[in-house]
Amino acid sequence: MALIVQKYGGTSVGSIERIEKVAEKIMATRQAGNDVVVVVSAMSGETNRLIGLAKSISPRPPAREMDVLMATGEQVSIALLAIALEKRGCPARSYTGFQVRILTDNAYSKARILDIDAEIIRNDLAKGRVVVVAGFQGIDAEGNITTLGRGGSDTTAVALAAALKADECQIFTDVDGVYTTDPRIVPKARRLSRITFEEMLELASLGSKVLQIRAVEFAGKYKVPLRVLSSFEEGEGTLITFEEEGMEEPLISGIAFNRDEAKITVLGVPDRPGIAASILGPVSDANIEVDMIVQNVSTEGLTDFTFTVQSNDYEQALEITKNVAAELGAREVIGDTQIGKISLVGVGMRSHAGVATRMFRALAEEGINIEMISTSEIKISVVIDEKYLELAVRALHTAFGLDDDSAPAKVEGQENIA
Ligand code: ADP
Ligand code: ASP
Ligand code: MG
Repeated sequence: MALIVQKYGGTSVGSIERIEKVAEKIMATRQAGNDVVVVVSAMSGETNRLIGLAKSISPRPPAREMDVLMATGEQVSIALLAIALEKRGCPARSYTGFQVRILTDNAYSKARILDIDAEIIRNDLAKGRVVVVAGFQGIDAEGNITTLGRGGSDTTAVALAAALKADECQIFTDVDGVYTTDPRIVPKARRLSRITFEEMLELASLGSKVLQIRAVEFAGKYKVPLRVLSSFEEGEGTLITFEEEGMEEPLISGIAFNRDEAKITVLGVPDRPGIAASILGPVSDANIEVDMIVQNVSTEGLTDFTFTVQSNDYEQALEITKNVAAELGAREVIGDTQIGKISLVGVGMRSHAGVATRMFRALAEEGINIEMISTSEIKISVVIDEKYLELAVRALHTAFGLDDDSAPAKVEGQENIA
């Protein structure tokens, strides 16, 4: 008998009808002779609704209370799903993250899982029950409710699969697998039947929200067999593999993009040793992560220095930079929130030169200007004007031969929010 952990996202449990369908799928998995542990998200739109309620009271609500609030969404889903299972004669028990004891650190809204006590779950499984666990939440050492960051139910599922040594962790969502790029933006995107763990990690960290990055990290660390599948139709989905052998190695496996960064440029900084550290030091002291960094060649002892941060951190980073720039005698600080980052990811890049040239040429042909570039072994990222983001993703998808000209991608549900 195998143990399967299944996770159903917001759209998949977005209505009573859909919850009933999920119950049917779980029953089928059990009837095939498996033990099943299920992780569910809040019904689609619910987490955003809850955040909206808090923000209507205060623009900056206390982090602790936000987590208490946001964690309620998943509690609704677990109970409804357990009710739907019981109705079908399937013994089921629902648990919040705190009841299971998913122990996290105390970083509200982005807590990390430290330990899982899977005892309750094992006992229930032994009694023939389906266990339904609320995703996205845990408890810190002092007993405070914490949440794991947007998309965090993926991480709950993978972490549970690791703790229970499950045979497979199945992430059911509103697309039928991992695609070459977001099929909502590029209808010609192709489903990948397999993708390496390393590539998935890059795609997730560069903005493909199909899996939360920490879920992929966890899967890598504990070697959890992970698969992304559709809640709405049959199929094999996409397997995240740990071996590269036997895989055809296309130059590019996928394209990720991200609108959630902003750019800050310091113009006319005196070009002397220690400048980068004096600008970025105070930014990182404020716990703000810097992504891309570019320093221009200096002319007449002056240079320009540009970096990007998450949009959430932009206002604060801009203020800090303006203060530092004044101290350094820089000419001006300018910010730009209208940027988009596009990244090509592929293990095939390692053994092939010329990917960058092909990328830049494809963008040039569309008249798109590149503002920043960064590369690593298996990815190339560029920052461009946000206006051209979708056009650029499509152009690159075509230029690298990724288009599927036969079938349009199947994407379920209108709103893409959980
Ligand atoms: P869930 O609520 O099930 O967790 P998400 O909205 O978090 O679902 O993630 C699924 C969405 O991820 C898809 O609807 C799709 O728009 C988006 N997405 C982004 N990049 C990709 C990709 N490369 N492959 C598949 N889906 C992607
Ligand atoms: N409900 C949470 C969110 O919307 C967690 C999740 O869906 O994975 O981000
Ligand atoms: Mg998600």
